[in-house]
Amino acid sequence: MNTKYIFVTGGVVSSLGKGIISASIGKLLLARGYKVTIQKFDPYINIDPGTLNPYEHGECYVTDDGMETDLDLGHYERFTGIHTTRNNSITTGRIYKTVIDRERHGDYLGKTIQVVPHITDEIKHRMLREDAEEQLDFVITEVGGTIGDIESAPFMEAIRQLRWQLGRDAVCVHLTYVPYLKAADELKTKPTQHSVKELQSMGIQPDILVLRTERHLDDGLRMKVASFCNVDLECVVQSEDMPSIYEVPVSMQRQGLDAAILRKIGIPVGETPAMKSWHDFLAKQRQASREVHIALVGKYDLQDAYKSIRESLNLAGIYNDVKTKMHFLNSEDITPENVGSKLEGMAGILICPGFGQRGIEGKIIAAEYTRSRDIPTFGICLGMQMMVIEFARNVLKHGDAHSTEMNPNTQHPVIDLMEEQKTITGMGGTMRLGAYECALQENSKVRAIYGKSHIQERHRHRYEFNNTYLDEYEHHGMRCVGRNPNNDLVEIVEIPTLRWYIGTQFHPEYASTVLHPHPLFMDFIKTCIDGTAQA
Ligand code: GLN
Repeated sequence: MNTKYIFVTGGVVSSLGKGIISASIGKLLLARGYKVTIQKFDPYINIDPGTLNPYEHGECYVTDDGMETDLDLGHYERFTGIHTTRNNSITTGRIYKTVIDRERHGDYLGKTIQVVPHITDEIKHRMLREDAEEQLDFVITEVGGTIGDIESAPFMEAIRQLRWQLGRDAVCVHLTYVPYLKAADELKTKPTQHSVKELQSMGIQPDILVLRTERHLDDGLRMKVASFCNVDLECVVQSEDMPSIYEVPVSMQRQGLDAAILRKIGIPVGETPAMKSWHDFLAKQRQASREVHIALVGKYDLQDAYKSIRESLNLAGIYNDVKTKMHFLNSEDITPENVGSKLEGMAGILICPGFGQRGIEGKIIAAEYTRSRDIPTFGICLGMQMMVIEFARNVLKHGDAHSTEMNPNTQHPVIDLMEEQKTITGMGGTMRLGAYECALQENSKVRAIYGKSHIQERHRHRYEFNNTYLDEYEHHGMRCVGRNPNNDLVEIVEIPTLRWYIGTQFHPEYASTVLHPHPLFMDFIKTCIDGTAQA
């Protein structure tokens, strides 16, 4: 079968959960045995979200091949288990850069370069995945932003052209919002009608409408939307608020969203896949009632800033039959005096990744507190670096130990730049990014947890453990148990005499999926629960 294309757009307001719907469609088609990929097109000018503040854009998700991408790619991977690449995250900036570089190179000599057709052709080329190495059955393309945004107009024009060109091989799924007006006690479809009109004015007739709603929509309302918007009744699906985003694929399947897509394309629908392991997971999620309390020590008090970490803890909790209750602790507010009261009742702490000076001393104070009291502690990237600095200051007695990121003049740069990073001046895409190999030391806790000797995990950092201090650390009980086999960089530290005190230079959270929760998160949560049971 030739590749089929599904475009997912959104209208009325942002934050409707287009990423979750796209990921759910991906999951449902995958369950039917199709080869699927999901990609996101974002209308902003940044080449990638790597330089964006998490307050602007939430977490930056990193792919195996080292692309810094939108957090929706995290949903795609967690829902489907598909590994995305740099081709799955495209911005207006990247499109323009390609076209402008080509123009400077002389590839269009004599021509005036314009949004239509040059920019739209480049968008189409990427939407079609013309360079894809493997044959795909379905390409799902989610377009960021809301219909009517000035920025997304070239993406819409590309979709319009593609639908004309591809005929039945392309479908458009449009997500809108149906607000409930309390005073009138009514659900309102007018914004949806307007949004569809806007889409139609750009030459795009949606095939399927997904209506986000906080209240159940009856058939009458769905019928009204169907007739006003030129859409079949069976193609009007509702996405009600769910207790968990992982219920969404099942709800979509129950309403026949995947079947509607297949019918539109002209593929025999066949039997509905059972998705047994997904249902088993949901059953576990619904049953989990006991709670485990974990402190997230970081500086961004925004849910989305540590999205993959939160989801990894959540998933690991569910597989351990508990609800993970996360308590965000702003590390800027942590002092030696209040750390005890702030961490009271916490079964474990996770020290978050990050950049720059703000809030780091609080992370170091927290690390000292949990190390000296044997409270399970998981440090990720900057979190691991702070565990290393704390150990240098308080155990190795190098009082001024630091990372040269925060103090370039320290006498004890226990965290320092790699040689090859020292000559880099640009900020965008220049960190150590993507998956690297790591060898796990025999008899270490991490080796037992992973159950293998070699792993691949994703990175996003500039600074590294400084191997000059390696023997000193090992000698005093902080072991460097994960190392890159090619360049000896330290990837994991642990204190084996403690119950769970592990820091990773890489980001394991990017690799947790619904069906395969990450072993480090699994073991961390398990240890935290065991600790609570004893207490
Ligand atoms: N700022 C640190 C570095 O660049 C850690 C980065 C991170 O936590 N992702 O090495």
